[in-house]
Amino acid sequence: MVETAVCPKCSNTGKIKERDGTVHICFDCLQSGRLDQHDKKLKSAEELGIKL
Ligand SMILES: [Zn+2]
Repeated sequence: MVETAVCPKCSNTGKIKERDGTVHICFDCLQSGRLDQHDKKLKSAEELGIKL
């Protein structure tokens, strides 16, 4: 697995927006722990109103 500086899926936003408007959390970042380092305000997906 190659580590990249910027997530190709979400561009380090931690969120992926589908074409139908659904927003969900980026599992790649979540699993790699990138989200915790990148955005300390991101406490939980539930707080952001993101459906897992
Ligand atoms: Zn990501």
